[in-house]
Amino acid sequence: MGLGLTMCVRSRFQSSCLQWAWRTTFLKHIQRRHQGSHGWTHLGGSTYKAVIFDMGGVLIPSPGKVAAEWEVQNRIPSGTILKALMEGGENGPWMRFMRAEITAEGFLREFGRLCSEMSKTSVPVDSFFSLLTSERVAKQFPVMTEAITQIRAKGLQTAVLSNNFYLPNQKSFLPLDRKQFDVVVESCVEGICKPDLRIYKLCLERLGLQPSESIFLDDLGPNLKAAASLGIHIIKVNDPETAVKELEALLGFTLRVGVPNTQPVRKTMEIPKDSLEKYLKDLLGIQTTGPLELLQFDHGQSNPTYYIRLANRDLVLRKKPPGTLLPSAHAIEREFSVVGTPFYVMEYCPGLIYKDPSLPGLEPSHRRAIYTAMNTVLCKIHSVDPQAVGLEDYGKQGAYIPRQMRTWVKQYRASETSTIPAMERLIEWLPLHLPHQQRTTVVHGDFRLDNLVFHPEKPEVLAVLDWELSTLGDPLVDVAYSCLAHYLPSSFPVLRGFNDCDLTQLGIPAAEEYFRMYCLQMGLPPTQNWNFYMAFSFFRVAAILQGVYKRSLTGQASSAHAEQTGKLTEFVSNLAWDFAVKEGFRVFKEMPFKNPLTRSCHTWARPQSQWYPIGTRSYSSVPEASPAHASRGGLVISPESLSPPIRELYHRLKHFMEQHVYPAEPELQSHQASAARWSPSPLIENLKEKAKAEGLWNLFLPLEADPEKKYGAGLTNVEYAHLCELMGTSLYAPEICNCSAPDTGNMELLVRYGTEAQKARWLMPLLEGKARSCFAMTEPQVASSDATNIEASIREEDSFYVINGHKWWITGILDPRCQLCVFMGKTDPHAPRHQQQSVLLVPMDTPGIKIIRPLTVYGLEDAPGGHGEVRFEHVRVPKENMVLGPGRGFEIAQGRLGPGRIHHCMRLIGFSERALALMKARVKSRVAFGKPLVEQGTVLADIAQSRVEIEQARLLVLRAAHLMDLAGNKAAALDIAMIKMVAPSMASRVIDRAIQAFGAAGLSGDYPLAQFFTWARALRFADGPDEVHRATVAKLELKHCI
Ligand SMILES: Cc1cc2nc3c(=O)[nH]c(=O)nc-3n(C[C@H](O)[C@H](O)[C@H](O)COP(=O)(O)OP(=O)(O)OC[C@H]3O[C@@H](n4cnc5c(N)ncnc54)[C@H](O)[C@@H]3O)c2cc1C
Repeated sequence: MGLGLTMCVRSRFQSSCLQWAWRTTFLKHIQRRHQGSHGWTHLGGSTYKAVIFDMGGVLIPSPGKVAAEWEVQNRIPSGTILKALMEGGENGPWMRFMRAEITAEGFLREFGRLCSEMSKTSVPVDSFFSLLTSERVAKQFPVMTEAITQIRAKGLQTAVLSNNFYLPNQKSFLPLDRKQFDVVVESCVEGICKPDLRIYKLCLERLGLQPSESIFLDDLGPNLKAAASLGIHIIKVNDPETAVKELEALLGFTLRVGVPNTQPVRKTMEIPKDSLEKYLKDLLGIQTTGPLELLQFDHGQSNPTYYIRLANRDLVLRKKPPGTLLPSAHAIEREFSVVGTPFYVMEYCPGLIYKDPSLPGLEPSHRRAIYTAMNTVLCKIHSVDPQAVGLEDYGKQGAYIPRQMRTWVKQYRASETSTIPAMERLIEWLPLHLPHQQRTTVVHGDFRLDNLVFHPEKPEVLAVLDWELSTLGDPLVDVAYSCLAHYLPSSFPVLRGFNDCDLTQLGIPAAEEYFRMYCLQMGLPPTQNWNFYMAFSFFRVAAILQGVYKRSLTGQASSAHAEQTGKLTEFVSNLAWDFAVKEGFRVFKEMPFKNPLTRSCHTWARPQSQWYPIGTRSYSSVPEASPAHASRGGLVISPESLSPPIRELYHRLKHFMEQHVYPAEPELQSHQASAARWSPSPLIENLKEKAKAEGLWNLFLPLEADPEKKYGAGLTNVEYAHLCELMGTSLYAPEICNCSAPDTGNMELLVRYGTEAQKARWLMPLLEGKARSCFAMTEPQVASSDATNIEASIREEDSFYVINGHKWWITGILDPRCQLCVFMGKTDPHAPRHQQQSVLLVPMDTPGIKIIRPLTVYGLEDAPGGHGEVRFEHVRVPKENMVLGPGRGFEIAQGRLGPGRIHHCMRLIGFSERALALMKARVKSRVAFGKPLVEQGTVLADIAQSRVEIEQARLLVLRAAHLMDLAGNKAAALDIAMIKMVAPSMASRVIDRAIQAFGAAGLSGDYPLAQFFTWARALRFADGPDEVHRATVAKLELKHCI
C-alpha cells in the first residue's frame, strides 16, 4: 500500500464488532440523513446582491455570552457585565466607547466602577476585556467563514456593519480577515452606532445597493428593527448554525459544503492519496473518475483520523501514528478486533462534536440535556448483552481493573522519565483497594463528551467514536471516565475541563449526580466507591500523558502540544491521589469506630510493634509511612512520616522560614514599634507574594471542609498540624502564609456556610490576601465566655438588619485592610437560648461603626490589626448578609470556634519549640559561676521538663487533629477541649523557663520570647478561658463513665 504500514481496508459490514457499534449508533442516523433531514441542496437564483454581517454575536462570540462564561469562572454575580453594558443606553460608557468618544482606558475605568456598584463586589473588568479581545475567544465561527466563501463564490458582496471600538493600541478591534468583505463599516471609525439609521445607509451606499437587495444579520433586536425599517431583509442570529440555515433558505443556495472539525492534512501526517484512491475504488467498486478529497480531523491526535470523499461516499479513515510505538499503545485493532490491522475505514456520520465540555454558548437546560443524553447512551452500551451480539470473546471476563493496572503500569514504566511520587503511591494503593467487580459488560474505555457525535438540533447522541480501548470490563470505569472534565481546569491543554466553573450555574450535573443518574437508569444501587474509579481513571490518564511526553522527547509526537501535555502527568497523578485519599476516608468512616473516649484505644491502625519512640523534630523517628498505611489512618507523628508531597511542602516551608521569615523578624518588630505601626508593613506584603509564589498559601482549610480543594491546599488536619506548628515558630509567618487568625476562622465560616454571592464578595479577597477581617462577639458588659450572654441587637427593618452593640477585644479591626466584620448578635432575645443569636457579615465601611480605642495586652498593641473596643450604632446591613439564617449564630460560632481554634494549639507548640531551641543555644554559650549554664542541674531539669511537656502536648494536638480527620469534629470534641486546656499553659511554662534562662534579656524585645509569652498567656482567654475547657472535659468524662 505504500503507507509504510501494512494497511487493510474493509467495508464496515465485514466486521462483526464494528457492525455492532454501527448498529447501536450510526445506522439509524445515516438513514435519517438519507431521508433528507439535512436537505441543504435546493438550488435557485437569488435576488439578493449582498449579505451584511454584524460582528459580535454573528461572526464571533457576543460580548454577552463571553461575559456569562467569564462571570461563572470569576464568581461575579451573573448578568453584571450585560447589565453594565446596557446601562445609560446611548449615553452609557459602552455606547460612548463604541463611538470612540472615550478611550479604552477611560471606558474600563467607568465600566469597572459601574460593575462594582451593581454587583457590590470588585469586578476585574480588565480581565473580562482581555478575554473578550483574546485570540482564543475572538475567533470567527467556522460556519460563517464557510458561508462567506460560498456567498462570494456566487458573486454576491459581503460587508461587516459593526458597533466596534478602538483597542489601547489605537487599532480598531477587528479579529476578522478583511479580505472576506467588500465593505467594512465600524461605529468607532464613523462616530455613529447602530441602531442609528445613518450607519446602515452608509453601508448600503458603499455597497452601491438598495436596501431590498441586501440581507442583514445581527443578534440584537433594536439593530434589526432599524435595518428592517429601511427595507433591508433581516435575520436574527441566536446561534450561527441556525442563522446560516435561514440565510441558505433566503439565498436559495447551499452555504455548507465543508466538513466541520477538519483541516488540510498536516505535513507530518500526509498519506499517499493515489494508492489510497486506487485501493478504495477497487474495494468499493467505484467507477467514477473524480479525485479523492482528503482532509484531516483536528480531533483524534493519538490515531490520526481523515475525512475522505470519493464519488458520493463520505468516509473516515483512522490509522496508527508514525514511528515506533509503546507496547499495546494505539491498539487500533481493538476497533477492528478480527483483523488486527493498523488502519480502518468507516462511513462518515455528520453531526456536532462538543469539544469544550463546559458547552459554552448553550443554555443551562440544554447542557443538562446533553449530559443526560451522554449518560443514557452509556447505559445503552452497558446494557448490550455481549453474548447476544457475538462479543463474548471481545475481552476476558472479570478482573478488568487488575488487568488494566498491569497494562498501564507496564506502559507507564516503559515511558517513565523520572520518579513521580504520586504515581508510585497509586501503583501501590490501587491494587490494595480493588473493588469487587459486580458486572462485566462491553466497555468503551475512552468515554468522553468529545468522543460523541450529537444531533445538530436536539440532545441526542448519533455516534460514539474512538473504540480503540474498548473491551469487556467493569462498566463503572466508563462512568468515571465521563467525569474527568469535572475535575480538570478549563486551561488544561489536552482534556479540557471545567473545575473552575460553577456547575449549578452551568446546568451540568456534578460527578456524584452523574453517577447517581447512571445507577438509576441501570437500576443499580448507588455507587459508594466512585472515588476509587476516579482515582483509577486519572491514574490511567497520567500513564497516557507520560507516554505522550516520552514520545515528544524522542521526536515522535503526533501534536505540537505533546511535550507540554506530557509534563502534566504529575498534575494528573496528584489529582488521582486526591481521590485515593477521599476513598480512604470513606472506608475509614464506614469502619466500626472505637469510641474515642475509651482510654484503652490507640488511634492508628498500625500494629503495636511499629510504635516508635518520638524524638526531636529534626530527625525521623518513624519509618516512612507507606501510602497504604496513611490511607488507613496512621497517625503521622513526625513531619518525616508525612506523604512525600506534604513532606516536600513541609520542607519548602521550613526553608522559607529560614530564608525569609526569621531574618525579617527584627525589621517587622521595629515596624510594630514605629509611628507607622497602624499601617501594614510593606515587608509583610512583599513576603506574602513570595509565600504565594512558593505555594505556601492558604494551607489551613481542612480537606473535609473543602474536599474539592477549591479554596485551599486541601490538607488533612494532621498534615496541617505539622505545618502550622512550623509557622507558629514565628509570630509573623501565619500572616505571611495567609494562615492567621481571625481570617482563617472567618474564611472557613464562609466556605462552610456562605452563599455563592457572599463567597464571591468576601471569601475571594480574603483568600487572595487582599483583605483582612475580624470576628466580633465579646462584649465588655457581659461574661462573654458564655456566648449566650451576648446582648448586641440585630433588628429587622425593611430589607435591612440594623445592629446596635458594644464589643471589645476585636482582633484585627484596626487594620486598614480589614473589610469584613463577622458580627454576632441577637435577632430574637425570646427564642430558645441557643437560637437567639445570628451572624451577620458587616462591611467595615458601613456607617455607624465607631472604634473607641485599641486595647493592649501587657502593654503590647499588636498593630496594625490590634484588638479594638468598638460601638456599633444603627449599622444597616442588607438582609442578604445574614449567614445561614436568623437564629443560627450559635451553631455557626461553634463551627467557627471549634476546629479552627486548635490551630492556636498547633502554633503554641511552635512557640514552645522555638523558645526551647533559643534556650538551649543560650545556656550553652553563657557562663556563670565558672561553667556554662547548661552544666547547672536546674537548667538541665528545665530543659528536660520542657521537652517532655512539648511532646505530650504535641501528641494531644495530633490526636485531636487525627480524630477530626477520621471521625469528624463532633466526635473529636473531647480531644479538642483537652488540647485547648493543655496547650496555652504548657507553652506559658516552657517559654517562662526559657525567659528565666535568658536572664533579663528574655523580657526584652531583642528576642521573641516576651511576645510569645504574652500570646500564650492571652490565649488562656482568647481561645476560651481554661476553666470552660476544663468544664467541657469533665462533663464529657463524666458522661462517658455513666
Ligand atoms: C488577645 C485577645 C484577643 C481576643 N480576640 C477576640 C476577638 O477577635 N473577638 C472576640 O469576640 N473576642 C476576642 N477576645 C475575647 C475572648 O474571647 C474573651 O476574653 C473570652 O471569651 C472570655 O470572655 P470574658 O473576657 O468576657 O471573660 P468572662 O466571661 O467574664 O470570664 C471571666 C473568668 O471567669 C471564669 N469563668 C468563666 N466561665 C467559667 C466556668 N464555666 N467555670 C469556671 N470559671 C469560669 C474564668 O476564669 C474566666 O477567665 C480576645 C481576647 C484576648 C485576650
